Amino acid sequence: MMSFKDAKKHTTLCVVNVVGTERISPNFIRVTLGGDQLQRLPDHGFDHWFRLYLPQEHGETTFDLPNRADTIGYLKYLRIPSATRPHLRNYTVRAFRPQARELDIDFVVHGDEGVASRWVQRTKAGDTVALLDQGCGYEFAPDTTFHLLAGDETALAAIVGILRDLPRDATGLAVVEIPDPADAQQVDAPAGFEVRWLPRPAGTRPGSLALAAVQAWTTDSPTTVSAYFAGEQALPAGARRHLVDIGVPKRRISFTGYWRLGKTH
Ligand SMILES: Cc1cc2nc3c(=O)[nH]c(=O)nc-3n(C[C@H](O)[C@H](O)[C@H](O)COP(=O)(O)OP(=O)(O)OC[C@H]3O[C@@H](n4cnc5c(N)ncnc54)[C@H](O)[C@@H]3O)c2cc1C
Repeated sequence: MMSFKDAKKHTTLCVVNVVGTERISPNFIRVTLGGDQLQRLPDHGFDHWFRLYLPQEHGETTFDLPNRADTIGYLKYLRIPSATRPHLRNYTVRAFRPQARELDIDFVVHGDEGVASRWVQRTKAGDTVALLDQGCGYEFAPDTTFHLLAGDETALAAIVGILRDLPRDATGLAVVEIPDPADAQQVDAPAGFEVRWLPRPAGTRPGSLALAAVQAWTTDSPTTVSAYFAGEQALPAGARRHLVDIGVPKRRISFTGYWRLGKTH
């Protein structure tokens, strides 16, 4: 199975258009993208993620882009004059409908200070974006007896996707911290999973409730656990530390910081 470290091997770049947007809950806007180039996109499932290239706010943007996110690809991207270079962020496939050539993304709306958060509140049908496939991040061993998944709202799509695509006899705990109880979504999880939504009181540091839930978790069989942690970077870092402390082998923990408090991407 591919993991975060294999992301640079993927080379499918699709230039697509916004089909529509919908405010699905207090803090999320779902964007549907469509276009013939989605025919080429592999359907990885799980927490399938991609680089998303967004248009400049003013003027023309070029979508003639490198098809790799390795060092050479990134240097090529940086060589595009800044006036026409698209913004670059990371997002997750919430749903992919290959037949219809459509793909949904659930964007967290977090005000106007981020390029992506601003864009999603203003975009309309017909706008152009590009995405570069990066595969999946969750790597779990075949002998896994318990999956521990935890994230904040930015990892909602990833965790919901993992729950949707795990074998139906998988067991585990999924913890998703959300800004508002109404941001919880319908989940198609295996019957042996507990899915715990943790609404975050105002003024609480994002990720801290999910981290506390992981820190309160323990097991008698640490060597057959697989874990996935994503969200504000203190959450995956702290969650991983706890699992290592209770004896879970490092290679069984997939983790990545999805964003950093106070830091622009
Ligand atoms: C593999 C991967 C998959 C991801 N999938 C998704 C996804 O499906 N949906 C999704 O919404 N996000 C997802 N993210 C997170 C997203 O890329 C970041 O939140 C990104 O920083 C948003 O870009 P921006 O332009 O809005 O803000 P930036 O310009 O990056 O940041 C501006 C400011 O906003 C703050 N900020 C950034 N994100 C948030 C947030 N969510 N809440 C509060 N403050 C924030 C930053 O700390 C900074 O102060 C994913 C990240 C990764 C690495």
